[in-house]
Amino acid sequence: MGNVVSLFENEQKDEEKPIVLLADDDPSIRLMIRHVLEDENYEIVEAEDGLDAIRAVEKQRPAVILLDAIMPGLDGFTTCQQIKDRGYSDIPVMMITGLDDEASVERAYDVGAVDYITKPIKWAVLKHRVRTIVQRVVAERKIQRLEYRDSLTQLPNRLLFVDRLEQALTRAERHRESLALMVVDIDDFKLVNDSFGHEAGDLLIKAVGDLLSKSLRRADTVARLGGDEFAIVIENVNGVEDAISIADNLTTVLEHNVRLDNQETFTSASVGIALYPDDGADAGTLLKNADTAMFRAKENGRRCFQFYKPEMSVTAMERLDLENSIRNAMDNNELVIHYQPTIDVHNNEIAGVEALLRWQHPEKGMIEPDDFIPVAIESGLIVAIGDWMITTICHQLRVWKDAGMENPNVSINLAARQFKDGNLTATFIQAMDKYEIEGSELTIEVTEATLTCSEGEIEATLNKLHDMGVKIAVDDFGIGFASLTNLKDLPIDVVKVDEKFVSGVPDNEKDVAVVTAIAGLTRGLKLKLLAEGIENERQLNMLKSVGCSLAQGYYWSKALPADQYEQFYLNRFYNLG
Ligand code: GH3
Ligand code: MG
Repeated sequence: MGNVVSLFENEQKDEEKPIVLLADDDPSIRLMIRHVLEDENYEIVEAEDGLDAIRAVEKQRPAVILLDAIMPGLDGFTTCQQIKDRGYSDIPVMMITGLDDEASVERAYDVGAVDYITKPIKWAVLKHRVRTIVQRVVAERKIQRLEYRDSLTQLPNRLLFVDRLEQALTRAERHRESLALMVVDIDDFKLVNDSFGHEAGDLLIKAVGDLLSKSLRRADTVARLGGDEFAIVIENVNGVEDAISIADNLTTVLEHNVRLDNQETFTSASVGIALYPDDGADAGTLLKNADTAMFRAKENGRRCFQFYKPEMSVTAMERLDLENSIRNAMDNNELVIHYQPTIDVHNNEIAGVEALLRWQHPEKGMIEPDDFIPVAIESGLIVAIGDWMITTICHQLRVWKDAGMENPNVSINLAARQFKDGNLTATFIQAMDKYEIEGSELTIEVTEATLTCSEGEIEATLNKLHDMGVKIAVDDFGIGFASLTNLKDLPIDVVKVDEKFVSGVPDNEKDVAVVTAIAGLTRGLKLKLLAEGIENERQLNMLKSVGCSLAQGYYWSKALPADQYEQFYLNRFYNLG
């Protein structure tokens, strides 16, 4: 597939009127040749020297190149060599020369010419040779196009896409650059086929292909992988933020009203993103991972994008096993809640606790949430787990309040799926009523990603709970992609800066910059800033200096079972007293 890269976009057109590039410094020869080839259906492009010829090749993709051997500047041999070196080895070169010595002929073939014509030119011979070569090239290109292009959208198909991706990966490796692979799948496309017919479906696929091509830079490759699935390679991306803004733009561009069958229909798409080198070093792995991420975006409610994460790659079998084990764990009371204190950094007092789910497995020991929550979310089990957590937390709060503990506030992490599938507000009201808990004694934590995938229903639920006094915190801030508008419009009280950034302060300049920027943002929006993962006094002082008011971390305590937390509370109270 070596010459596949040089397929140009307007190839159907140049099958109809192939381009002949004519490079000679002598205008009279150019005129003569043009005259001889006049009757043929060619577009003749002239170049007056070697550099001019190379530029024309890059722009026009001729079917054949006629090169004068002796030209001022770059001679024909060097020009030919350079054209081949630039990857256009599939374009045949005919060398025209007055040099009829063996060495010159040898040299012409050495640099990759396919034919050699001596001056004085026999015009009839030239005409026939050019015709034969052009016919062959046109036939070859047509076959290539059929093999490598999707006939509906004229975009590269999977075969060509993989080739382009491989080439891009080679460049990325050589220049030590990052690359983003995005897989885009239209949401609920079957509905379009069902309600408007297959032809309308085809039109929509074409429209989406056009929208994608238009929204990207020329150098990026867009392909149709099949069905309603497209893929895009974006070279030289400048980190995650760059990929985020491109994906954000894509999802926005695709949220479009398309006219089908004289009716407006709303389209949207889900995007999965894999980054080179973090998420894979070869085309196959990157495609698989971007696809996995795309499916996750679908699960998260569609109309959004999702970056690949390694934990998405559990096999179907492992997933099923795990799903069954989680069900058993719930039945056997193996799920437990640990509590990690949040400290008010101004008075060093406990401001509340975060409830964190743990799985006490009878054989495997303590299983971390990252190892089972993704599967619980995917299978929908998270809804039942969440309901159980909300009830258990309210019960625990009642116990603590009865024991006279002050400032009891418990925060609970919620996933997008819980907002969509469950009836969160009802669950909260029920548990709060039963154990006589005030809204102000609870905090809900949602990640930035959850907010971005929101389609309004999450916002509505957050507003309802907030009206009941429940506080809202945005978790993992800085690694997601919540836009300012999201923060501004949602009822948010607290922003949690991710420990990934906290761990680097005060020594890592970039982390300091991120933390300072987030602090400025939260100050501007009058929100509280909570730093996760504080391990030492230097980190704490830096965070305090930018106005952070709340913190968590091993510096005070890890997450503890309820009874141990009570102990922590009492000791701390004693120390402070
Ligand atoms: P989801 O939101 O989960 O992506 O659901 P969906 O309805 O978009 O379904 P999915 O992507 O799984 O399936 C795409 C459908 O597109 C399956 C097939 O019936 C239809 N399809 C595949 N190729 C073509 C095509 O060339 N033209 C038309 N009109 N339909 C196609
Ligand atoms: Mg689809």
